Amino acid sequence: MTWDSQLWRTAQRIEAAYLKCRGLPQALDVPWYAWQKLTAACRWAAEAERRGWRHAGARQREQLGRDLDYLLSDLRALRSSLESRQRNKLPTAGELYAELVAAEDEFGDVVVDDFELYVTTDPITLDGIYLGPFEIRLKLSRLDEPDPYRVVAVEPHPAQSSVDTTHPHVHNERICLGEGKAAVTAALAEGRLADLFQLINRVLHSYGEGSAYVELDRWHGTPCSECDQSLDEDDLYSCRGCDCALCGECVRVCDCGTAACHDCATHCYGCEETTCAGCLAACSDCEEEFCASCLEEGLCHACQAAEEERAAEREAELEAELAAEFGGDETEAAVHAARLGEVIVLARPRHHRNRRLRNLGRR
Ligand SMILES: [Zn+2]
Ligand SMILES: [Zn+2]
Ligand SMILES: [Zn+2]
Ligand SMILES: [Zn+2]
Ligand SMILES: [Zn+2]
Repeated sequence: MTWDSQLWRTAQRIEAAYLKCRGLPQALDVPWYAWQKLTAACRWAAEAERRGWRHAGARQREQLGRDLDYLLSDLRALRSSLESRQRNKLPTAGELYAELVAAEDEFGDVVVDDFELYVTTDPITLDGIYLGPFEIRLKLSRLDEPDPYRVVAVEPHPAQSSVDTTHPHVHNERICLGEGKAAVTAALAEGRLADLFQLINRVLHSYGEGSAYVELDRWHGTPCSECDQSLDEDDLYSCRGCDCALCGECVRVCDCGTAACHDCATHCYGCEETTCAGCLAACSDCEEEFCASCLEEGLCHACQAAEEERAAEREAELEAELAAEFGGDETEAAVHAARLGEVIVLARPRHHRNRRLRNLGRR
C-alpha cells in the first residue's frame, strides 16, 4: 500500500472535526473530600476508644460507616466515568486513515469538499427499477448529531408521486436506516467510517416492502384499481368502502362527496344515481332505498303516485255513494261533495287524509 498524503490530510481533518464536535473529555474527579472526611472520622473513633468514651465511640463508629459509604459511591462514579471515556475514545488520525483506505477499496474514491466527506455507490436497480448511483455524504461539522449524513441521488429517478423521494428509503436526502440505525450510530461514534459507508450502501441496495417512503410497485404512479391506469397519488380518489385507489373516470361519487369503487357503490333505487349508504333512506311504503331527491315525505315517487290514485278512487266512490243517498237532489249532493273536498284539503298530511276519507266513508 503506497502512502497517500492527501488521504492523510483528510484523516487529520476528520480527527480535528471529531475533536471539535465532541470536545475534550472532562477531567476525572478524584474523591479527595470524602477521603479526608473518612480519615478524620477514623482518627476520632480511635481517640474515643483510647479514652474509654463509650457513647462518643459508638457515635464515631456510626459516622465512620456513613463516610465509608460516601467514599464507595464516589469511587464507583469515578470507575464508570473512566469506562465511558474509554467507550467514547476519539478516533486517531492513524485509525481514520486506515478507514479511508478501506472505503477507497470499496467505493473507488473518497472525496472531501468544503463541508462533507463522501463516497459514490454503484448505480442501483431495485426490482427492475433503475434509481442510479448515490453519494453518501458525511457532514464533518456535525459529527455529534444523531444523523450527520445525507444521501444524494447523482442522476435522480424519483418516484412519480414525490420528486423528493429518490429511493424507497430516501426522502429529502435523509435515509431511513430501519434496524441498521444502531450499527451506523456505533460506527460513527467509533470513527469506523468504512463500516458506516458500507452499512448505508447496504441499505441503499435493499428494499424493505412496507417500510418504504414510496413502495416500488407504485414508483411510476399508483394504478387505478379498476382500469389499471397509473396516476399521481394526488389525482386519485380513494374508495370509502375498501380504500382502493380510483381514477377520475372509474370513481363513483355521491352528491355529498363520498367516493366509491364499483363493488362498494350503492345506488338510489329510483334515479339509479350513485348515492352513499349514509345519504340513502328507505321509502316507508315499499322499503326500497332512495336518494333525498327521490323521496318526498318518506315516500318514493311510485308509492306517492299509487297512494294518490287510491285516494282519488276512494273520493269518486264516496261521491257516487252520496249521490245515491240524496237521490235526485244533486245540489245537496254537490254541497256534501264540496265539504268533503274541504275536509280533504284541510286534512294534510296525506296518510291522515286517507284515514279521514275512510272514516267519512263509514259514516
Ligand atoms: Zn380507472
Ligand atoms: Zn371499494
Ligand atoms: Zn334518486
Ligand atoms: Zn352521500
Ligand atoms: Zn316506495
